[in-house]
Amino acid sequence: MNVQSQIRAADPAATEHFDVVIAGAGISGVGAAYHLTRQCPDMSFVALEAQKTFGGTWSTHRYPGIRSDSDLHTFGYRFKPWTSAPIATAAEILKYMGEVIEENDLARHIRYQHTISSAKWSSQDNLWTIEAVRADTGETRRFTANFFWMCQGYYRHTEGYTPEWKDMALFKGPIIHPQKWPDDLNYKNKRVVVIGSGATAATLIPAMAKDAAHVTMLQRSPTYFRTGRNAIEIAETLRQLNVDETWIHEITRRKILFDQDAFTRKTFEEPEAAKKDLLSAVEAYLGPDYDIATHFTPKYRPWRQRIAFIPDGDLFQGIKSGKASVVTDEIERFTAKGILLKSGKELEADIIITATGFYLSANGDIAFEVDGKPLDFADTVTYRGMMFTGVPNLVWVFGYFRASWTLRVDLVADFVCRLLTHMKETGPRKVTPALRAEDHNMPLLPWIDPENFNPGYMMRGMHLLPKRGDKPEWQHNQDYWAEKDEFPAIDLRDSAFVYE
Ligand SMILES: Cc1cc2nc3c(=O)[nH]c(=O)nc-3n(C[C@H](O)[C@H](O)[C@H](O)COP(=O)(O)OP(=O)(O)OC[C@H]3O[C@@H](n4cnc5c(N)ncnc54)[C@H](O)[C@@H]3O)c2cc1C
Repeated sequence: MNVQSQIRAADPAATEHFDVVIAGAGISGVGAAYHLTRQCPDMSFVALEAQKTFGGTWSTHRYPGIRSDSDLHTFGYRFKPWTSAPIATAAEILKYMGEVIEENDLARHIRYQHTISSAKWSSQDNLWTIEAVRADTGETRRFTANFFWMCQGYYRHTEGYTPEWKDMALFKGPIIHPQKWPDDLNYKNKRVVVIGSGATAATLIPAMAKDAAHVTMLQRSPTYFRTGRNAIEIAETLRQLNVDETWIHEITRRKILFDQDAFTRKTFEEPEAAKKDLLSAVEAYLGPDYDIATHFTPKYRPWRQRIAFIPDGDLFQGIKSGKASVVTDEIERFTAKGILLKSGKELEADIIITATGFYLSANGDIAFEVDGKPLDFADTVTYRGMMFTGVPNLVWVFGYFRASWTLRVDLVADFVCRLLTHMKETGPRKVTPALRAEDHNMPLLPWIDPENFNPGYMMRGMHLLPKRGDKPEWQHNQDYWAEKDEFPAIDLRDSAFVYE
């Protein structure tokens, strides 16, 4: 029986109503749920999550070594102290999120195995009608909501992105994408080639190198990395002084954000000096004879793509020990034994891992309609990277690339709760972002400027994303340090918000 025939139609009589429906129970959805309970305690809400459990990214990715590449003082929520080493494993992040759910009694608000398939706005009823298919029973459940809080992330969880290379079918061993890691993969004493050099590759390689015969990182072009001790000095000092963890969390966050701000500014104002800092740190691990120019010196300015943090330089230590190596070349085609490179060299492998990124999914693969018309988010203009022109009562949480995602989860939540409270107090049931009179000649540009930030999944999927304007209101500027002051100051009576 195929999935379609298993899906059973929703029983209209069984429609449940909530003030707010949240899509997803990853770090964004759980954060949204927490803030609603604190800031809008009278509002009813439910979080609908496709997976069997919470965690999103941290539960669907199961490859060896899976860990954060930013610190958990800022990737953690502002309201719950992080008390361990800053770079955390997926298991530690899930434990932390589990505690947030338990301590705040959020479990009763989350419905697992509910994949939202459609969301339809009716201006007649001022309601979203949201349908979700239950993975366990195939049943379609129907919900109505005044407000839809999209916390479904930015990429497709069901499959990763693997480019099509010539003759892939000839390769005799397994070809695995890290998003679909087989539980029983045995790589002990095997030769592994990992294609890609992003955060995932940088995590996988040292973890696999411990048991594999050899791991080769095959990259078309190099990536920047940051490295250092997996510890924050100020947090360690404050802990020695028996300072309360709530204070340590806040002070450490401020210190990290202060340092990150300085570094980010340096990448824009003195890119060559920032580049030198990054490369010197790599050289300190690999030594002066290693060919850093070929393997670790990108052509782009630092921060145009995400810079992964390598705790204790483990990737470089793996390379130094000879258990791992880097090849910078292009793939000509696959062979039965491995990969033939454009240089003519053949890389032999028992297992090939394609750490080649994701499929961008701007809408959680949900079929949207507004007043009977299919909605294409690419036709809208974004209000500060969270709301969209012509789309009523909806917010999407899209975090930061150059700072931890969760910083924006907290900021957007404050805004949503303020907006919901404002509407409750003043009466309107519908709010729709709209370009103001002064915005009508504003140029409409792609979601993000490729000069500013240009990872592959963004470039491949940019046409799916909403447009941005050239004013702060009409773009996601990726600048936490500006938004932390701008968001609380958003004037809810601005004419960019049309209330009805
Ligand atoms: C391997 C990896 C490591 C990363 N490391 C970092 C890091 O260190 N720091 C950082 O800032 N960022 C990191 N990121 C980015 C990361 O994805 C985000 O920071 C963050 O986890 C996103 O949280 P989220 O809740 O918004 O989305 P997700 O984690 O993607 O969770 C979204 C949830 O929504 C559910 N969902 C989606 N569509 C539907 C639907 N139609 N119906 C119901 N449920 C749905 C999904 O099942 C999922 O559980 C990393 C990403 C990856 C892939």
